[in-house]
Amino acid sequence: MQTTTLLVIGGGPGGYVAAIRAAQLGVQTTLVEAGNVGGTCLNIGCIPSKALIHAAEEFHKLTQYAGGTPLGLSLQSPSVDIAGTVAWKDAIVGKLTGGVDALLKKNGVRLVKGWARIIDGKTVDVEQPGQAGGKPQRFICEHLLLATGSEPAELPFMPFGGPVVSSTQALSPSVLPQRIAVVGAGYIGLELGMAYRKLGVEVSVVEAQDRILPAYDAELVKPVQAALKKLGVPLYLSSRVQGMDESGRGLRVAAGQSGETVLPVDQVLVAVGRRPRTQGYGLESLLLDMNGPALRIDDQCRTSMRNAWAIGDVAGEPMLAHRAMAQGEMVAEIIAGKRRRFSPAAIPAVCFTDPEIAVAGLAPDDAKRQGMDVISASFPFAANGRAMTIESTDGFVRVVARRDNHLIVGWQAVGRGVSELSTAFSQSLEMGARLEDVAGTIHAHPSLGEAVQEAALRALGHALHI
Ligand code: FAD
Ligand code: NAD
Repeated sequence: MQTTTLLVIGGGPGGYVAAIRAAQLGVQTTLVEAGNVGGTCLNIGCIPSKALIHAAEEFHKLTQYAGGTPLGLSLQSPSVDIAGTVAWKDAIVGKLTGGVDALLKKNGVRLVKGWARIIDGKTVDVEQPGQAGGKPQRFICEHLLLATGSEPAELPFMPFGGPVVSSTQALSPSVLPQRIAVVGAGYIGLELGMAYRKLGVEVSVVEAQDRILPAYDAELVKPVQAALKKLGVPLYLSSRVQGMDESGRGLRVAAGQSGETVLPVDQVLVAVGRRPRTQGYGLESLLLDMNGPALRIDDQCRTSMRNAWAIGDVAGEPMLAHRAMAQGEMVAEIIAGKRRRFSPAAIPAVCFTDPEIAVAGLAPDDAKRQGMDVISASFPFAANGRAMTIESTDGFVRVVARRDNHLIVGWQAVGRGVSELSTAFSQSLEMGARLEDVAGTIHAHPSLGEAVQEAALRALGHALHI
């Protein structure tokens, strides 16, 4: 039996950041992780997906060059060696997870590899790999931090296996399918669906709602929808999958009143959301309050049990790595005696489609629903010199601000490379910037960021370049 002040279950971005920060602050910390540190994000989520998206974009560019381009570049017969692409992606994952291992060690976190089982709020058993049935290691802790993440949601009538895959398998294909149907036009469905299309796979998308990316406002999504059309990705909206047909190579799809269609497929990627991981490790014994399928937490990430904390995906939406990290850092500081609360001005979100979507804070309709009187203004990339030089004039930046005092309450953008603008968006919101602050800041020329300044100028009624 061993004792520790803080025991963290789960070494994803929430858990490993919490462990590092707690150890930095002198809290004796043990981190239990069943797989590789880095969790979903580094191993089977954010990083591998962005690597695959990048490889697919590069290949797509090459295929376009093969036909000759207005830039005067040409090339012959590019091809994909998917095993090589996956190996390159795995090497990035290895570098990053190795880096986290080293950081944990350097900061003095005790890393225990194995599956944690909660006995009570202060006692956790850890089964070492390959030790099922053997005697687990027992830990007694003062604080228990639950950072167990989430897992892909399954369709009950079409469980994962065979041709039905989750994002985890789709990120490590041994061969590329000829035809894939993606179920769910959310983050994963569209990020990976577009990447597969750019790698030459025939992709179709089935979505239950009447539009893609239903979490974002319709205007933002339009350029993504146009890009899907240009890539030749058919969309089946307001549609429900019914299951595979008898041959196992057809996906049955029902669309409203218009009957059933069978899509010929080699694979089906089911991406209909993720579920907090709350089962299989004795969590139920704590009888914690729930918020739907997630653990209920307060603004310090406390659960309903004293000294039991929860962060990241297991504590519900938004299931984003940077939120998990911010919560992890905060909980570590509270345990170390600092006064902290989780009250960010905004949690930015980026969808890595092509074009990308980046948002922080309120969209105009959100603000109106909250009873705010707002002004909003957009600046199109079609009027931005930098966008022209990188051949990506689709999209725009939009700002939303209070009418009375010009306090900025939200930013939205769609366009190639706008993920990098999310930093400016979050900083302006967190620092309480007004339209005049952004309009009066010198933005480097030529850059996509000039569209941020111009959106603020336009909201003030005096844009310069439109
Ligand atoms: P996780 O990262 O899920 O980590 C939980 C860890 O706990 C796992 O390593 C698991 O092995 C371990 N664990 C669970 N139970 C036990 C137990 N009983 N004993 C021992 N260990 C246990 N977010 C973004 O912000 N940006 C993106 O671009 C992005 N892209 C994504 C792409 C994909 C394909 C997916 C699937 C997700 C993506 N996400 C993205 C979401 C992001 O990965 C998650 O929000 C984030 O990983 C959550 O962190 P976490 O620490 O809460 O949990
Ligand atoms: P999602 O919630 O983004 O999208 C799921 C989509 O599936 C929705 O559009 C929904 O309407 C649709 N849907 C649900 N049931 C359906 C059904 N039976 N048939 C057809 N469509 C159906 O979920 P996801 O794409 O699986 O991603 C899970 C989570 O992972 C995201 O919510 C996000 O938190 C995280 N993630 C983030 C990023 C990023 O930040 N760039 C990337 C990938 C994943």
